Amino acid sequence: MTVSPLYSPDVGKLRPPENPEQSILWLSEVIEWFHARSATDLHLQPCEEDAALWVRIDGQLSEVARYPNAAHNRMIARLKVLGRCTDYAGELVQEGRFSLNGSTDSGEARLSIVPTLWGEKAVLRLLQGGGGLRKLDELGFAPELTEVLRAAMDLPQGLILSVGPSGSGKSAAIYAMIDDLLTRAGHPISTITIEDPIEQSLPGAAQVPIDSSRGFGFAEGLRAVLRQDPEVIMVGEIRDTETAQAALQAALTGHQLLSSMHTLSAAEALIRLRQMGAATFEIAAALAGLLNTRLLRRLCPQCKSTREATPEEEALIPEIAGWEGRQIAEAAGCESCLGTGHAGRFGLGEWIVPKSTLADGLKGQQSVQAVQAHLEHVIAARPTLIDAVREGIVCPAEVRRLAGIALATPQRGAGETTE
Ligand SMILES: [Zn+2]
Repeated sequence: MTVSPLYSPDVGKLRPPENPEQSILWLSEVIEWFHARSATDLHLQPCEEDAALWVRIDGQLSEVARYPNAAHNRMIARLKVLGRCTDYAGELVQEGRFSLNGSTDSGEARLSIVPTLWGEKAVLRLLQGGGGLRKLDELGFAPELTEVLRAAMDLPQGLILSVGPSGSGKSAAIYAMIDDLLTRAGHPISTITIEDPIEQSLPGAAQVPIDSSRGFGFAEGLRAVLRQDPEVIMVGEIRDTETAQAALQAALTGHQLLSSMHTLSAAEALIRLRQMGAATFEIAAALAGLLNTRLLRRLCPQCKSTREATPEEEALIPEIAGWEGRQIAEAAGCESCLGTGHAGRFGLGEWIVPKSTLADGLKGQQSVQAVQAHLEHVIAARPTLIDAVREGIVCPAEVRRLAGIALATPQRGAGETTE
């Protein structure tokens, strides 16, 4: 892995710009380098004495540089020019956007500027361009999961819901599933997406951005695209009653409908649909399956080492007791991973389908556990996760972050009933 030319091993961070005049060049190098390294956010944070640059990579925020306030002010001014902001006095909350490397294909930066006690704080969200579209086989899912997702996409109709917290790879999975279907088909499939905003270009699909400020939300978008003879429809997110009902109707009337919901588990997503007023029989009849995804942080291969597991780690993952030397891996952080100990991420997922009892199971006020009893884990996440820990790809601490994924230790004698 390459190290940024700006990185200074003695400070363990990036070298700050040498003088304020250099700061604009420095900023463009920083944006370019971190964008190429799939950073998702850059924070330019003003502090009392100086300013800090924070970068989010693999879901984790790290401080990568400190630099003088004079340089900060110049960089904020530069960002305002790039983002076509109008307030140069620094008294207003502002938003803007600009393309990276001169074209939208290479990605886009969304800029937000907010006045704070010590000056203006800028956050840049870096979006990957068309080249950032990931193939289904590249998401890091277990091969059995990839095959099950392909089979689900080949069904003539039904609702496929991708669930998980923010930054869990929900939309990357949906994009990849649609792209996979279109690539395999060998003929056009009428595919329409309704998104807020369009995060990535999807070759072969008609992508429609919604505009809530003009009354064109997900529900209106869905009604409009149904007149366009669609076979596959992607609705960015289901978050209100109208969208839920329109999506279920579409999935029951000969359309393959994919969408995402911001919940930790499959059962919570179904309870949310109920709360939005969707009928239990409609949910049960429309639902093809739910994908619950997370992104696991891969340990940095440059600074990874192994050691014996602690009793706490063994309590978390009882399988460790049976491993040779009870060895697990951890990473201390190095130049190559900018001190984070992580390098890249890969997808972990479970595929869940309704049991025939789901419609009854959703009636009345239901707890997550009660609904879970009416769902079947066709592919469980746990075996893949334990393999990744055993092979030293992730550290045991990563397991603790996975709230909402079914990670219950298999009961003695019960075995892996989910596979
Ligand atoms: Zn490292």
